[in-house]
Amino acid sequence: MKQLATLNKYFWKYRWLFILGIVFVVLTNYFRIISPQLTGYIINAVVETLSGHTAAQPSKQHAYDVLAWEMIGWFAEKPYQEKILYTGIILIVLAIISGFFMFLMRQTIIVMSRHIEFDQKNEVFSHYQNLSASFYKTHSTGDLMNRISEDVSRVRMYTGPAIMYFINLAAVIGFSLYFMIRSDLKLTILSLCPLPILAISIYIVNTIINKKSEKIQSLLSDLTTNAQESYAGIRVIKSFVQEKAMQQYFNDNSESYRKNALSLARTEAIYFPSMGLLIGLSTLITILVGGLDVVNQVPGASVGKIAEFVMYIQMLTFPVSAIGWTASMTQRAIASQRRINELLHTEPEIHDAPDAVDAPISGNICFSHAGFTYAHTGIRALRDINLDIRAGQKIAVVGRTGSGKSTLLQIMLRMFDLTEGSISYDGIPVSSIKLNTLRNRISFVPQDVFLFSDTIRNNIRFGNPDATEEEIRTAARRACILQDIERLPQGFDTLVGERGVTLSGGQKQRISIARALIRQPQLVLFDDCLSAVDSKTEKEIINGLYEYLQNKTAIVVTHRVFALFRFDKIIVLDEGRIAESGTHEELLERNGLYAEMHRLHMEQEAGDDVD
Ligand code: ATP
Ligand code: MG
Repeated sequence: MKQLATLNKYFWKYRWLFILGIVFVVLTNYFRIISPQLTGYIINAVVETLSGHTAAQPSKQHAYDVLAWEMIGWFAEKPYQEKILYTGIILIVLAIISGFFMFLMRQTIIVMSRHIEFDQKNEVFSHYQNLSASFYKTHSTGDLMNRISEDVSRVRMYTGPAIMYFINLAAVIGFSLYFMIRSDLKLTILSLCPLPILAISIYIVNTIINKKSEKIQSLLSDLTTNAQESYAGIRVIKSFVQEKAMQQYFNDNSESYRKNALSLARTEAIYFPSMGLLIGLSTLITILVGGLDVVNQVPGASVGKIAEFVMYIQMLTFPVSAIGWTASMTQRAIASQRRINELLHTEPEIHDAPDAVDAPISGNICFSHAGFTYAHTGIRALRDINLDIRAGQKIAVVGRTGSGKSTLLQIMLRMFDLTEGSISYDGIPVSSIKLNTLRNRISFVPQDVFLFSDTIRNNIRFGNPDATEEEIRTAARRACILQDIERLPQGFDTLVGERGVTLSGGQKQRISIARALIRQPQLVLFDDCLSAVDSKTEKEIINGLYEYLQNKTAIVVTHRVFALFRFDKIIVLDEGRIAESGTHEELLERNGLYAEMHRLHMEQEAGDDVD
């Protein structure tokens, strides 16, 4: 229960809805409790009239509610036919009033639970946004999605229905027990005997059902992932002629889903009949014991009382059977809330230092003995990097795959914190600069392109939400994608992403570049962002960048750009170390790693030309 205490702040926030809800629950049940009393009275009146006795005189000794007592007093002297008519009308009116309050009770408590669900989803989502890159490396997308959808909805089952049923149960038990005991203690105890068994058995069956449905849920999610992957990877499947194997795999998953679903259906099938049996037992005891009392002329016993008790039992059965349901819902909510709390208590590893400053970031960068090891894999991606970059310089970073180029750029954005040494911007250590300031002053094109399922315009504008139409076009032109966009029937309004048009790898890369170019930062980081375009387009883009990069510092990770661009310095990384650095000519003269890469590159180009 401690876990659920986290929800108190929400209950407090929506306290008025909650309090109103409780009032409505009480009113609903108050108007329901009068019906059995009136019914009992009228049956007695009819029985006694028919058997020739004088009309029944209601005695206060019998437990009547104040309102019921008033109504009985009002028609006590009337002929019995009129009594029946009036009672009928009153019963209908009572049912309508009680139904109206039940409507209001759902409108308050269930509405409150929806508000809480909304707030909680937003809280979880905004916490996700703050967590660092390393958190995302250690948690799967499925797990994170589950916490925001599945777990939050389970908690809602507690804040809504479970709490509502619980308050309802308390009100029903309070009202009916009070009048039942006042009316006949012995009959009350005997008739209610089976109800605790009912509650416990429903709890047990419910727990079994929940376990089974959880299993089914996870099988279903496997099945969905399986199907989703086959749609996404349909080209790979077809080209490797693996349709049959995929079909078999899907069938196997599907089969175990079916088995579990059938077993759940069997358990559910015994649920309602056994509930019916126990409720029937209570009714049977009431009629048997009550009937014997009437036959033996026990003082106070009457046919009307039997009817009244049967109605009380009817009223009690649903709330009592809901105890089991409420208890198992609460247990699930506790488990879900524990997972949510775990997430909310995860502090972002990378956050602003208390004395963080708004550094101007002019482009002077200094690495001093910088080293970095990925915590969860232990891979030492950068070692002893010493580097001085001055504002306005254009730097290229080259190196074999896996040599640490992307890591170097991510460290500059402080996606991860260095494990050794330091980086500083204009002499201020990166850890003392406000994260927002740092990232706002840097424009970054990541190696793996990601486009949102939105229009091309919005994908580009993402880099700068205030950009004008003209700026969007300029950025697209600089990234050499303007012509391609204009050729699409809907131009900038074309939807991309899963349900949108399928763009080529190179087109996506260029949209991702345009997104970075729409900003006007001091420092620009490009991570191998031209790998999917042909060398002619690459030249065009690079020529277009000259103008944009004037007065800016740029660090460009690349596999191919040799001598195309006048880089002030080329850094060659090898296994996380700076193996060589210098200008193109200096490095060729050195005849080391760079020269070898250059030679290979030239041979390849020559080969391409022959093709
Ligand atoms: P490429 O040219 O293929 O993009 P790269 O030079 O950019 O390679 P990095 O991505 O920086 O190389 O990777 C450097 C090393 O760090 C590699 O050995 C890689 O396996 C490892 N690595 C990269 N990212 C992570 C990560 N998120 N977690 C753990 N290890 C990583
Ligand atoms: Mg890389």
